[in-house]
Amino acid sequence: MSEVTVKQLASTVGIPVERLLTQLNEAGISASGADATLTEQEKVKLLGYLRRSHGKDEEDAASAPNEVTLKRKSVSELRQPTPTPRSGTTGARPAPTPRSNKTVSVEVRRKRTYVKRGDSSPQSTNSSGPRRQSSDRSRPQRERATSVSSVFDESRRRAELEAMRAEQEARRLAEQEEQERLAREEELRRREAEEIRRQEEEARRVAEEAARLKAELEAAERKAAEPAAPEPVEATTDEAPKPKKSGSAGSPASPRRAAEPARPKKAVKKAAEPVEKERVAKKSARKDSTRVRDTNISSRSDYEEVDGAGGSGRGLRRKKKGSKPQLQDKHAFQRPTAPVVREVEVPESISVAELSNRMSVKASQVIRELFKQGMMVTINQVLDRDTATLVVEEMGHTVVVADDRDAEGSLLDDLHEREGQFESETRPPVVTIMGHVDHGKTSLLDYIRRTRVASGEAGGITQHIGAYHVETEKGTVSFLDTPGHAAFSAMRARGAQVTDIVILVVAADDGVMPQTIEAIHHARAAGVPLIVAINKMDKPDANPDKVMQELTQHDVLTEEWGGDTMMVKVSAKAGMGIDELLDAILLQSEVLELKAPVDGPAFGAIVESSLDKGRGPVATVLVQSGTLHRGDVIVSGGEYGRVRAMFDEAGAPIESAGPSIPVQVLGLSGTPNAGDDVIVVADERRAREVAEFRSERSRQNRFEEQRGVSLDQLFSQLKEGDQKAVNLIVKADVQGSLEALKDSLLKLTNDEVKVAIVSSGVGGLTESDANLAVTSNAIMLGFNVRADAAARRVVEDKGLDLRYYSIIYELIDDVKKAISGLLSPIVTEEIIGLAEVRDVFRSSKFGAVAGCMVVEGSIRRNSPIRVLRNNVVVYEGALESLRRFKDDVSEVKSGTECGIGVKNYNDVQPGDQIEVFERTERARVL
Ligand code: GDP
Repeated sequence: MSEVTVKQLASTVGIPVERLLTQLNEAGISASGADATLTEQEKVKLLGYLRRSHGKDEEDAASAPNEVTLKRKSVSELRQPTPTPRSGTTGARPAPTPRSNKTVSVEVRRKRTYVKRGDSSPQSTNSSGPRRQSSDRSRPQRERATSVSSVFDESRRRAELEAMRAEQEARRLAEQEEQERLAREEELRRREAEEIRRQEEEARRVAEEAARLKAELEAAERKAAEPAAPEPVEATTDEAPKPKKSGSAGSPASPRRAAEPARPKKAVKKAAEPVEKERVAKKSARKDSTRVRDTNISSRSDYEEVDGAGGSGRGLRRKKKGSKPQLQDKHAFQRPTAPVVREVEVPESISVAELSNRMSVKASQVIRELFKQGMMVTINQVLDRDTATLVVEEMGHTVVVADDRDAEGSLLDDLHEREGQFESETRPPVVTIMGHVDHGKTSLLDYIRRTRVASGEAGGITQHIGAYHVETEKGTVSFLDTPGHAAFSAMRARGAQVTDIVILVVAADDGVMPQTIEAIHHARAAGVPLIVAINKMDKPDANPDKVMQELTQHDVLTEEWGGDTMMVKVSAKAGMGIDELLDAILLQSEVLELKAPVDGPAFGAIVESSLDKGRGPVATVLVQSGTLHRGDVIVSGGEYGRVRAMFDEAGAPIESAGPSIPVQVLGLSGTPNAGDDVIVVADERRAREVAEFRSERSRQNRFEEQRGVSLDQLFSQLKEGDQKAVNLIVKADVQGSLEALKDSLLKLTNDEVKVAIVSSGVGGLTESDANLAVTSNAIMLGFNVRADAAARRVVEDKGLDLRYYSIIYELIDDVKKAISGLLSPIVTEEIIGLAEVRDVFRSSKFGAVAGCMVVEGSIRRNSPIRVLRNNVVVYEGALESLRRFKDDVSEVKSGTECGIGVKNYNDVQPGDQIEVFERTERARVL
C-alpha cells in the first residue's frame, strides 16, 4: 500500500484525524482533509519531521525497531465464591482464597511491549490491576503535548487496555460459564419436572381410556346380549381386548373385563403396565378381527382406537392426530356391533375350502383350528359333518344341518323353478329300438342313419355317438343308437326318462320271441307307447300276420284290428317301409303332444360317454329342454365342466342344440354314466360343488359295495357255505355297453350264487384291475377292451381268470355258464400269441398283408384271431395266410417277423395288434 488517506493513517496510528492533520501541516505537507491521500514520500517526510521534533536521527529509526511486543497466554482457575470454605486437598495447598467446589478456568492473554526509548528502561504493561491502570491514566493527558511520545504512549495504553480487556473478558467468560451451568441445571430440573408431569398425565389418560372402554364394553355387551343371547362371547370377541382362547368360554370373560379397568387406576405411576396389557389385548383383538371378517366398519375402527390408547409414544402421537375421528368412533362404537354370527350349512361332507368359504374366513384359519384339535388337514380335504360342526362352533358360528341333497337339492329346486318360466314348444320325439336278438335292430338303425343323417365332412362317415336325429319333411325324429333292453333299463334306472316312443322290431320270419316279450314289458313299465316294426319283409317266408297275431297274446293289438298300436311292415335290408315308419313315429308324437321349452338353460341326459385319447372325456348329451350352448357350464352326475366343443352325429361342430337333439360334448371332467342328468349351471363353482357332492356320495356307496366283496367276507361266505359269490371286474369300451352289462350281470344272482361287480369302468383292463381281481378273487371281463401288458403279467403270475368279449349276450351267457361252472368245468379263452403290425402291403393275390413282429407267444395259422387298435377289439376272425418270407408256415414264434393276412378284413393298419387265442377248458375252483 503506497497511498493512504489521512483518515486511514490516523486510524492506523491511533490518533485523531485533526491531530494528524495539524502534524502534517507542521511538517509542511498540505493535506486538504480527512480524505486527502498521502504518498509514500509524504509519509516519510512526516516521520522525519516527527523524529526531528523529538531529536532523533532518521538513520536510527531505519536501523532499529521502535518497539518489541511479547505475547503470553496463561490459564488459571477462578473459584466460585461460596460462603463455606471447604477443607481437604485444597486446604493443603497454599491457596490465598478459600477454595470452593466450583472452579472456572480463566484464560489470560498477556502482551508485553518493549519500546526503544533511548536511556529509558523497558516498561512493562501487564494486567497487574486497576491500581496501576489508574496511575497510568494521567499519562495520556500529559503526553498529549508532544506528538511523538503520544504515539508510543498510545501503543502502551492500547496494550494496557488490551490486557484489561482480556482480564475483563476472562471474568466475563467465567461468569457466563457459571450462568450457563446454572441454566443447564435449571433446565435439567425443569425437564425432570416436566417428564414427571407428562407421565402423570399419560397415566391419567390411560386410566380414563380404560374406564371409557369398560363403559363401552358394557354398553356393547348389553346390546349384544339382547339380539344374540346364546352367544354372549361373540359380542366380546372382537371388541373386548380379550386374548383369543376359544369362542365357547363365556363366563370367564366377564371377571377379566371387570378387573381390567381397575388396574390402570392404581397404576398411575406404572403407566407402562396397562399399556402393555392394552397392546396384548390389541393383538388378540386383531387376531379375532380376522376371524370375524364380517363385522362392520365401526368395529374395525375400534381396533384403531385401541391402537391409539396404546400409550406408547407412537400410539400417543397417533392418538393425538386422530383425536377428532375418535369422537366419531365413539359414536360408531356404541352402535350394536355384535359380529355376524353366520348360519353355516354343514352337509354330510364338506371340503375345508368350502367350509371356510361359508364361514367367510380364510381356509388357513380352518386348518389352524383343526390343527389345534389335533387334525392335520389340507385345503381340499373333505371333512365329515361332526368335524365340520366342531370347527364351525369353535369359530363362533352356528351350524345349520343341511339335508343330504343340499347342493344337489337346491340345484334341482332351481331346475323346477326354471320349468314354468319359458314357453313350451313342440319338440321332436326320441325313439328307442328294442326287440329280440337278430331281428334287425342294428340293421334298422344303421339303415336310417346311413340314408337319412346328413353325412359329415369326412367322406360321409357318420360317427357312432349313441344317438342321432333325422330330419324328414314332416318333422325331426331322434333315435337312441344303443339297441338293447339293458341300455334302456340302465338309463331308466338312473331316472332318465329319455325315450318317448319304443320301436319294437319283430322279424316277420321269426315272430315273437322271449326278448320281444321282455321289450313289451319294459315299454309298459316305462309307460312309453310302442310302434311295432315288422322287419325282414323282403324275406320270402315273412309272415306279418303271424307276428300280429302273436302280439295280441301280449295285449299289443294292431290298429288294423281295432287296437291302438301302429304296426309298420319294413325291411332294414331293402329299405322298405322306412318312410312309413318315420311317419308313424311322427304321428305318434303328435298324439303325445311332446313339448319342451326351447329357450332357457338346457337340461338333458347322458346317452353315452367314453374317454377319447386325444379329446379327453367325450359324452353324448340328449338335450331334453332348453338349449345347450357351447361355453355353458354343465354338471352331469359326478362330473362337471364347461362345454368346450359340441359335435353333431355327423361329426360337424355346432354351437347349440335344442330339445331332443343329441350332441357330443367335450370338456367334462370325466365320463358320466349313461342316463345321468345334464344340468346347465350358472357358474363353475356351483357345478363343482354339486359334482363333488355327488361323487363323494357315490364313492361312499362304492366303498360300501366293495366292502361287501372283500376277502374277509368271501371267507366268511365260504365258511357259511350257504352262498357262493362270483366276483367280477367288468371293463368296456363305452359307458352304454358297460351299463347294460352290469345290469344284466347283476340280474344273474340267484339263490345259490351271488354275482358281484367289484369294479367296472370304461377303457382297457389295467394292473390295478388285475390286482383288485387278485384280492377279491374276481373274474376279469373285457368287453371290446384288452388288458395291458402289466395287467397281463399279473394275470399270468396269479393265474387269474381273464376273458374278452365283443357280444353282450355272449358275455352274459358265459357268466351264466360260469355260475353253473361252479359245479362243472368252464370254457376259458387263452391268448397264445401277439403280433404287432409294422407295415401293411397290398397284393393283388392276397389282399392286404400285414408285416408283423411277433412280440408274445406264437402265432398259429389255424387259431382264431382278433385285431386290436389301442387295446380295443376292432375285428374278430381268422387268418387267411401266415407267411415267413415266401413260405406258408403254421406257426411263428416270438421275436420273429411274419406276414399275416386276415380273412375278410382289409383294414389292418400299422400299429394294430393281432392276437391269437385258443379256447381251453379248465375246471373252475372257487
Ligand atoms: P339285432 O341283433 O337286432 O341288432 O339284429 P341285426 O341288425 O344285427 O340283424 C341280424 C341279421 O339280420 C343280420 O345278418 C342282418 O343282415 C339281418 N337283417 C336285418 N334286417 C333285415 C331285413 O330287413 N331283411 C333281411 N333279409 N335281413 C335282415
